[in-house]
Amino acid sequence: MLAVQAETSLSTQPVTGYVHSIETFGAVDGPGTRFVAFLQGCRMRCEFCHNPDTWNTGVGTEVTPDELLAQAVKYKAFWGKKGGITVSGGESLLQIDFILELFKKAKAQGINTCLDTCGQPFSYKEPFFSKFKELMQYTDVSLVDIKHIDPYEHKRLTGWTNENILSMIQYMSDNGHHMWIRHVLVPERTDYDDYLAQLGAYIKTIKTVDKVEVLPYHTMGVSKYDELGFNYPLEGIEPPIAERVANAERLLDTSAYTGYKN
Ligand code: SF4
Repeated sequence: MLAVQAETSLSTQPVTGYVHSIETFGAVDGPGTRFVAFLQGCRMRCEFCHNPDTWNTGVGTEVTPDELLAQAVKYKAFWGKKGGITVSGGESLLQIDFILELFKKAKAQGINTCLDTCGQPFSYKEPFFSKFKELMQYTDVSLVDIKHIDPYEHKRLTGWTNENILSMIQYMSDNGHHMWIRHVLVPERTDYDDYLAQLGAYIKTIKTVDKVEVLPYHTMGVSKYDELGFNYPLEGIEPPIAERVANAERLLDTSAYTGYKN
């Protein structure tokens, strides 16, 4: 009897998530105006990361899906037809149980849901894959970063290869899940015509891309490295000039992706 009680109380424990920060009027993380929750935790170590303070797991503000949703819906009047809730990071998929519950509850209220992910935790292994498959049923659009198209360069830039990230994108393409693809343009790392052309050709093979964005590398996160006592890996590398950004946009054919389903 005691064992049964213990099991019951365990199963009724609410799933909680760890939130790094909130943006109440996000304009760039998905369609329309959005409530953006940046979750804590990331295993990648992108050299250009401007949020190294999101890397640690198990810290931040602990919330239940109901608590976060209650906070978000206060801003519902500002969302219009396109806006809604975005979950970002850090790496959001490290807290997939939490997002699944949050998005289920959000969709039950007719709220538009957007998942911002770098895809690193993606795996066909269980239990992750079943959860991901279910999460996709409650996700209107995903923002997916491709850090580098070349597996070797990807590892050099982030500490991980891009194999499972591309598998996730393929799964989403094959199953009709819409996405925006984003690529950070970093001089001396990703800003090479060959790699950009390769990435552009790859994106053309994905069926469910609504939008492609080139994000110019910036140095706004440098002070956080100083505060955390970390060396800044891209010391001396300046943001790309406008011509290189335009060149990347041409090679990724960003203008061909003219909108998004919503
Ligand atoms: S995936 Fe995002 S949060 Fe993680 S290191 Fe890279 S840029 Fe930073």
